Amino acid sequence: MNHEYPQGIKWTKQRKDVYNILHDAAEPLSAQQIYNQIAKADEDGSYAPSTIYRILGAFEEKGLVRKTTWMDDSTVVYELKRGGHTHYAVCLTCHKRVPLRSCPFAHIHFPETGDDFQITEHKLELYGYCKECKNAKK
Ligand SMILES: [Zn+2]
Ligand SMILES: [Zn+2]
Repeated sequence: MNHEYPQGIKWTKQRKDVYNILHDAAEPLSAQQIYNQIAKADEDGSYAPSTIYRILGAFEEKGLVRKTTWMDDSTVVYELKRGGHTHYAVCLTCHKRVPLRSCPFAHIHFPETGDDFQITEHKLELYGYCKECKNAKK
């Protein structure tokens, strides 16, 4: 894989593996999902789920990942902090997550928070029915 690894953290092979999976993921992943992907390619069995948690903890400390949860599920999921971020619309029937191309907050300023609060992160999930499920209900 041909991307650059952020500076300021020691890149072991295991950390690179986890980073690569997050880098290529279409949506935030849980530690278990990351472990499942890594375990598939791991011939010498050097990974344990606890390894993944440790690596994700280190990434979080360095500000490389954003930790979040889906509202319909308490599982903690991780995504790389990149320039942009993605919001999702979640189907209430099949739980499919559809990424939204734009952020409704991108150009909003919140003057009412004034100097009292500096907003650095936000979350937004939309709920409804995907096309397939909407058609199936008719
Ligand atoms: Zn659906
Ligand atoms: Zn946003």
